[in-house]
Amino acid sequence: MKAIPKKRAASREEKQHNQVVNAHHSSRRAFCSGLLAATGAIAFPAIGGYNAKVTVIGGGFGGAIAAKQLKILNPNLAVTLIEQHKAYYTCPLSNLVLAGVVPVKTICHKYTTLSQHGVRVVHGRAQKTGNGSVILTDGSQVPYDRVLVAPGIDFYNNRLPGYSAKDTARIPHAWRAGEQTTILRRQLEAMPDGGVVIIMPPPPPYRCPPAPYERTGLIAHYLQLHKPACKILILDSKEGFSQQTLFTDGWENFYGDMIEWRSAEAGGLVEAIDINRMMVKTEFGEERGDVINYIPPQHAGEIAINSGLTDDSGWCPINTLTFESTQIAGVHVIGDAAHAGRMTKSGYSASAQGKAAAAAIVNLLQNNAPPTSNLDNICHSLVTPDYGISVTSAYRADGQTIVPIDKATSMSPRKASAEIRHQEARQARAWYDSITAEMFG
Ligand SMILES: Cc1cc2nc3c(=O)[nH]c(=O)nc-3n(C[C@H](O)[C@H](O)[C@H](O)COP(=O)(O)OP(=O)(O)OC[C@H]3O[C@@H](n4cnc5c(N)ncnc54)[C@H](O)[C@@H]3O)c2cc1C
Repeated sequence: MKAIPKKRAASREEKQHNQVVNAHHSSRRAFCSGLLAATGAIAFPAIGGYNAKVTVIGGGFGGAIAAKQLKILNPNLAVTLIEQHKAYYTCPLSNLVLAGVVPVKTICHKYTTLSQHGVRVVHGRAQKTGNGSVILTDGSQVPYDRVLVAPGIDFYNNRLPGYSAKDTARIPHAWRAGEQTTILRRQLEAMPDGGVVIIMPPPPPYRCPPAPYERTGLIAHYLQLHKPACKILILDSKEGFSQQTLFTDGWENFYGDMIEWRSAEAGGLVEAIDINRMMVKTEFGEERGDVINYIPPQHAGEIAINSGLTDDSGWCPINTLTFESTQIAGVHVIGDAAHAGRMTKSGYSASAQGKAAAAAIVNLLQNNAPPTSNLDNICHSLVTPDYGISVTSAYRADGQTIVPIDKATSMSPRKASAEIRHQEARQARAWYDSITAEMFG
């Protein structure tokens, strides 16, 4: 392992990137408080002689924030959140759970405070929506004037010969956090020193493009401390990945040759898996893993498919100003499930979309034009628990698509001091604390 350079003055590039990250963090805070100042004190007249009903499906980064924001913007709205689970486990920070740096309870959040903000929380699984009501799997119905669908992702479980949905206990994806995170963590703890972890990232588009590579570094951090003879083999279905040089520089610096990444062309494309033998077959032969983390290809959550909200891509086409489905009127889709142009599928994006959609719904219910909203994203990633990198973007929506604004994308510089990387790791934790407080505080 090479030593990291001693503390020195930040370069212009480092300072510039830090300013952009800080500006994004404070514009997010200003955006929230600006909305509050503009509309929080106004009691909107009830439409049609009653309080409009807005139902939100899914209490993740998109849905929980949107439900709360709807109540903030118009306290008269009757907002119902339908969420299948009693607790929400965040994917952000779940790679630190895999590394044994934080316990799984750190990423667990309850919905109790949302009720205190006036949101009615119904725990149940939504089966289908459309025509003014949401039908739950127990047969009950929740009516709406507008519905916001934020179910996140589901998986194509039949794309890899030898693997099916029933295999997730043996081959955990850990791409939805909670039980899956715990299973993968236990497998890492149980594997012998000298063993091999195979990570198989999915093809795009998928939830959180840098996360398989953050996972790699943080698993390496654990192995280096406890089982230094282990290897990690990434068998990738792609030719490159997000912030590649920043990750590979960091891996080399901290973990030497513990990590091997193979692109699709270099033999990374996996053709089949034999779970009994824990072998994966590639074009160039077989590889054995003591732990195999296959992350299947993804599509919008099942409720979106059941309701006819998806198109051939497997994602939900939307009007990018209002997040209203282009397939079913009165139904809005946000977060990972939405086809939101070039916006990254992330918790940060889902929360920005949740706020924008809430503002659009409040205005549409009163026959006002929807406001133009800020859409931005920061993906923070860790190479070690103390070494962070990030990419930030601001976006412009025109109704049809969402594209990054020129010169508003900034990536951590390739050369940076240990102090800057440490600062970025602290910013990642600060972002997590602030967004989970926004959702559940
Ligand atoms: C390992 C990893 C690390 C990540 N790190 C980051 C990060 O650092 N920063 C970041 O911004 N993003 C990160 N992400 C991405 C982030 O987790 C997702 O993009 C984000 O969760 C998407 O939010 P969402 O609201 O669309 O979906 P989700 O957060 O998945 O929420 C969907 C909710 O809907 C519920 N639901 C689904 N279907 C139904 C139904 N039919 N009825 C009732 N409820 C239902 C689910 O139970 C869930 O609570 C990471 C992802 C992974 C896998």
